[in-house]
Amino acid sequence: MPPSRVDLLRYDVIIVGAGTAGLSAALILGRCRRRVLVCNSGRYRNDAAQIMHGFLSRDGIPPAELRRIGREQLAPYDVEIRDVTVVDVRAAARHFEVTLEGGERLACRKLLLATGLVDRLPEISGLPEMYGKSVHHCPYCDGWEARDRPIGVYGQGCTGVALALTMKTWSKDVVLFSDGPASLPEADAARLARHEIAVREERIARLEGKDGMLERVVFTDGSAVERSVLFVKTKQEQGSDLARKLRCKVTDERGVEPAYKHEETTVDGVFVAGDASKDVLLAIMAAAEGADAAFGINCALQEEDLA
Ligand SMILES: Cc1cc2nc3c(=O)[nH]c(=O)nc-3n(C[C@H](O)[C@H](O)[C@H](O)COP(=O)(O)OP(=O)(O)OC[C@H]3O[C@@H](n4cnc5c(N)ncnc54)[C@H](O)[C@@H]3O)c2cc1C
Repeated sequence: MPPSRVDLLRYDVIIVGAGTAGLSAALILGRCRRRVLVCNSGRYRNDAAQIMHGFLSRDGIPPAELRRIGREQLAPYDVEIRDVTVVDVRAAARHFEVTLEGGERLACRKLLLATGLVDRLPEISGLPEMYGKSVHHCPYCDGWEARDRPIGVYGQGCTGVALALTMKTWSKDVVLFSDGPASLPEADAARLARHEIAVREERIARLEGKDGMLERVVFTDGSAVERSVLFVKTKQEQGSDLARKLRCKVTDERGVEPAYKHEETTVDGVFVAGDASKDVLLAIMAAAEGADAAFGINCALQEEDLA
């Protein structure tokens, strides 16, 4: 039997992703008395991190603890959370149809994509075990803990140069590893030299250390440079292809682009929050964007209901 209209529009909003962005949006929308479903496949970007920093009032707690508190505080509201992947989504005339893993189809009036990013790490032996412990990508998240220590930066071209210069804010002792010929423009090489950043161009064989803590970067000729922290630039991909399926504008540089106020995308009724739209990639920004999107969604629903 085909679902009735009431069934079809059981939810005002479906939020895809229950990271910081999705949970923050759910809280605001729940408090607006909206019927909200949050679907979550649970592959959080900061899974590798032991501790998160820089989140006002929550500096230094495990990321999973922030999400636990977030879920707990949704309890009084009409917010349902399901640990399930959204595999497909389709825009219909005045609603969206969402297909869950397993085939169940649901509908909603507005859709929020809080699907995050996935990092691709440089392929260096020993690095995956150290990521989140002594290998990091974000100076704002982990720079303080690396202060005054021997810092390595892994990177090529202008991104390597920029990250190496950035790390001078936290330590005087910074070495740039280009893992092959750096071929830097003269001006960049001179700038690094001026700020006493050595460039090591030897090919890297592996990272060595104990219990995830880096001790040295070892080259293919057997020589090594002692370092206790390494910062790398990761390549980032969208956490899901739903935005592209909906024909939202998605670029490598900016991710899913909000086109209008309050995080609405180029597709009417589809909003984006958190890392999926690549602004400042911090948890507190994800929370703020979630709240902003929720505000936009509620205003849009009010416009429709109170015309
Ligand atoms: C190693 C590391 C350390 C970090 N440390 C810090 C720090 O110290 N301080 C800080 O401020 N920031 C830190 N960050 C950044 C921070 O983690 C992110 O900015 C923040 O978590 C983004 O939240 P989000 O909700 O956008 O995405 P996420 O937390 O990644 O959540 C996205 C969710 O959407 C789900 N999802 C994706 N597609 C689907 C689908 N089709 N169906 C259902 N669910 C789906 C995912 O599985 C995931 O559960 C760190 C990041 C990394 C990688």
